[in-house]
Amino acid sequence: VRYTNKEYKKRLYGRFLYIRKRKRDMTFAEKQKQYADILVTLGVNVQSGQELVIRCDTAAAPFARIVTAAAYTAGAREVIVHFRDDKISRMRYEYAPTDVFTSVPEWESEGMNYYAARGAAFLSIVSEDPEAFKGVDPQKLAARNVAADEAFRPYYERMDKNELQWCVAAAASPEWARKVFPDRSEESAVAALWEAIFRAVRIGGNVQEKWTEHGESLKKRCAFLNEKQFKKLRYQNGLGTDFTVGLVENHIWTGGAEQTKTGVTFFANMPTEEVFTMPHCEQAEGVLKSSLPLSYQGSVIRNFTLRFHDGKVVEYHAEEGEETLKMILEADDGSRRLGEIALVPYNSPISQSGILFLQTLFDENAACHFALGQCYPNTMRNGEKLNREDLRAIGGNYAINHVDFMVGTADLSITGINASGDETLIFENGGWAV
Ligand code: ZN
Ligand code: ZN
Repeated sequence: VRYTNKEYKKRLYGRFLYIRKRKRDMTFAEKQKQYADILVTLGVNVQSGQELVIRCDTAAAPFARIVTAAAYTAGAREVIVHFRDDKISRMRYEYAPTDVFTSVPEWESEGMNYYAARGAAFLSIVSEDPEAFKGVDPQKLAARNVAADEAFRPYYERMDKNELQWCVAAAASPEWARKVFPDRSEESAVAALWEAIFRAVRIGGNVQEKWTEHGESLKKRCAFLNEKQFKKLRYQNGLGTDFTVGLVENHIWTGGAEQTKTGVTFFANMPTEEVFTMPHCEQAEGVLKSSLPLSYQGSVIRNFTLRFHDGKVVEYHAEEGEETLKMILEADDGSRRLGEIALVPYNSPISQSGILFLQTLFDENAACHFALGQCYPNTMRNGEKLNREDLRAIGGNYAINHVDFMVGTADLSITGINASGDETLIFENGGWAV
């Protein structure tokens, strides 16, 4: 075939564009591979000879295989995968009697406690349908929570004492994707959700360098806030939030990578955009309005209000899912109090994506939030060395729940108040003012 000069140039240019595009765009498989690699090397940071326990839904099995391969490549001694299946779990909640949920069989708790005692790393991959357990008897879910809190205590204790590397990350599933992109075909929804996950975890190019930079910028925010040692924070916005919360003495703002006692760094959540610290669980006053729906254990709570007095929720209401909110708040005394304060600018990459993930791992990184329930002992100086009672006596909350809920809006302002009553505007119009 002969081409005219013009045609030839056109073809050549087309070829050039094709090659350039190929060079720029990673394939889906390459992105998944890079994602799996960073979960293993930055997320849990599995060490040579260490065991890795992965927990995930059967929907995430194909991705779990890629992560497993990455972990062995990184030198893991053994990768243990605990699968669960949403749909089968739902059948159990529907058909099995309540007393099935009041205890956890030993073989199941040993699956976590045994490996925690051996110093394994733990990766949890979430992919669940946000409404997988919608309408299930809250009594059964609550009973399971109580039993699990008891059964997995040795594992949680090691986690609280900074003795193990752990990470929570996500994989797209058809059930989840359909809720996030209800107008799309299943195939297109799953693809879009994967892309949103990849963007949120900064996939592409030199991803290690991007995470290092990101981690450092979070550390800078923490350093500023740690220096200030505010006594209280005051929140206000047009939605109706008007709220003041006390911080414990010697609180530590944390963000980005964490470190185990033995000096291994890890990212507990991927993505993560928050800096967070410990509220005083007896000092919260006023009204908090939710700014995003909260998906909790397979049910969604929408448009809810919490009114606090002396640190405790004394009044609550939800337009949807109030039963679930009630289940959280009535679990124990600590579940009515705060255990985490987290700051996330409204212009964070996840909130700019405009996607409502209905999955706390993502939505909590799109907005300022609090958590009801258990505090993180390492957000207070020497907190991890104190036992539950001693920590509680100085304001560190203890509860069987730890439930993040979002309050950040585009017009949120947060003012820091120090011991002498001086005020510093920290957040203005939903973003950092300092
Ligand atoms: Zn948080
Ligand atoms: Zn949290």
